[in-house]
Amino acid sequence: MPAHDPTTFQETEVHPTAPFTVHRSDDGRWYTVTGDCPACHGRTVFRVAHGVLGPLKGRWRRRDAEPEPLTGAIPVYCQCGYPHPERPPESPDAGCGAFWDVPVPPATPPGGAP
Ligand SMILES: [Zn+2]
Ligand SMILES: [Zn+2]
Repeated sequence: MPAHDPTTFQETEVHPTAPFTVHRSDDGRWYTVTGDCPACHGRTVFRVAHGVLGPLKGRWRRRDAEPEPLTGAIPVYCQCGYPHPERPPESPDAGCGAFWDVPVPPATPPGGAP
């Protein structure tokens, strides 16, 4: 595993060469993307909410009320947590500014693989 590279903060699109792990939570509402940032090599864990549709309108939440699986790609921003020079204090990112797309793996069909 390469050491972290404290690159100067720059918002730039990069193209990862190493695979990323995409994990869908059991209730289908969270996707967690884990891997090493292609730009600074920091370990990045990026979480995105999916299918959270605001306040429940007074109806019971059913156990099977899962959102449709996400398709396409998840836009991931570096979240290495290391300091990077020239990162704007107002930046919400905790990384080097690099961002990239991670393709979402096909969803497991209902009643499919254990
Ligand atoms: Zn970094
Ligand atoms: Zn980075």
